[in-house]
Amino acid sequence: MSKFWSRTAREAEPYVPGEQPSDVNVIKLNTNENPFPPSPLALEAMEQSINADLKKYPSPTADRLKAVIAEREGVDVNKVFVGNGSDEVLAFAFQAFFDPNEAIKMPEITYSFYPVYANLYDIPFQQIPLQNDLSIDVEGLKRSVGGVIFPNPNAPTGLALSRVEVESIVAHNPNQVVIVDEAYVEFGAESAISLTKQYPNLLVTKTLSKSHALAGLRVGYAIGDVALIEGLERIKNSFNSYTINRVSLAGAEAALADEPYYDETLQAIVKTREWVTHDLEQLGFWVAESKANFLFVKPNGIGAETLYQQLKARGVYIRYFNKPGLEGYVRISIGTDDEMKRLIDIIQALI
Ligand code: PMP
Repeated sequence: MSKFWSRTAREAEPYVPGEQPSDVNVIKLNTNENPFPPSPLALEAMEQSINADLKKYPSPTADRLKAVIAEREGVDVNKVFVGNGSDEVLAFAFQAFFDPNEAIKMPEITYSFYPVYANLYDIPFQQIPLQNDLSIDVEGLKRSVGGVIFPNPNAPTGLALSRVEVESIVAHNPNQVVIVDEAYVEFGAESAISLTKQYPNLLVTKTLSKSHALAGLRVGYAIGDVALIEGLERIKNSFNSYTINRVSLAGAEAALADEPYYDETLQAIVKTREWVTHDLEQLGFWVAESKANFLFVKPNGIGAETLYQQLKARGVYIRYFNKPGLEGYVRISIGTDDEMKRLIDIIQALI
C-alpha cells in the first residue's frame, strides 16, 4: 500500500495464478497447460516473423488471424474478436457489457478471475451455488439483472453443460449478455458457437493456451454478434490498439492452420485423461467426469492439502485451492503418459 495509489489500486483484489516453478525437472500439473510442445509449423512461423519484421508495428486489426479463426469456427470474420489470451478478452467483455449498478450472475465455484474483474470494474455479482453433483445450476443462472458469465466446461470441476442447457441460460437472459468461457471446450464439451447465429446476446470466448499448447503466447478470442464485437473493439481501441504482437499473430495463425497436429495431441490428452481417471478411481479417489484437460479429484486415504504437499516435495505440482467449498479437492492437469504414470506411482506409495 502506498499513499500514491488510487482508490482502484488500493481496493483491487488481484488474482493469484498457480505456481510457475523455475526448475525444469518439475512435473507441472497445476495450471492446465498442454503437455505437448506447440505445432512445429507455429514455431517456424514465429522464427520467420522474428527475422522478418519486428521493427514494424503489428496489424492493429489482426485481420489475418481473425480470418483463420472465422474459417475454423464457421462464422463471418466480423463476428471475431482477438486479444492477449482469453483473460484479456474477458477483461474487455466485463467493461463492454456489464454495468456497475446491475448485478451479474456467475457460479459460486468457478474461474476465480471473474470476481477479480467484477471487483475491479465495480460490478456487483451474485454467486449461484453448484448443484449437489457439482454441476452448474442452470435454473439459477436464468433471469439475471446485469448479465451472466460461466465457463463450459466449468473450472475447476471440468464438468460440462450440454449445448441445450447453455441455450436455455442464453434464452432466459434476452436483454443481458451471457458470456460462455470455452477455454477447455475442445477437450470434449459441446461448443455454443453455433448459437451465436441466433442469439445476439451470446459471447463465446476461447483460447489457444490449452488446446494449441500456446499459453506463453497469450492469444485468445471471442465469437459473437457483430454489435458485441464492435463493443469489444471500442474498449480495446480505448486501451491499446495493437494488442497482439507480430510474433504471437504469426504463431497463432500457423498453429490454428495445423489441424493434424492439433487432432493428434488432443486425442492423446483425452486418452490419457481416461486411463488416469480409471487408475485414480481404482485407488478409491472420487473423480469428476471431466470434459477438460484436468481432473477434479477428491482423494481417499490422504487429505487434499497433504497430497498436494507430498507431491510437491517429490517434484510434482498439482493445484490445491485453500478456499471454502474446495478444501477437500485437488485439481490435476493432464500431462504426458510418463508424467501421469509417475503421479500414480507416487500416490500409490503415499496412501
Ligand atoms: N478461462 C478459464 C476457465 C481458465 O481456466 C483460464 C486459464 N487460467 C482462462 C480463461 C485464461 O486463459 P488464457 O488467458 O491463457 O487464454
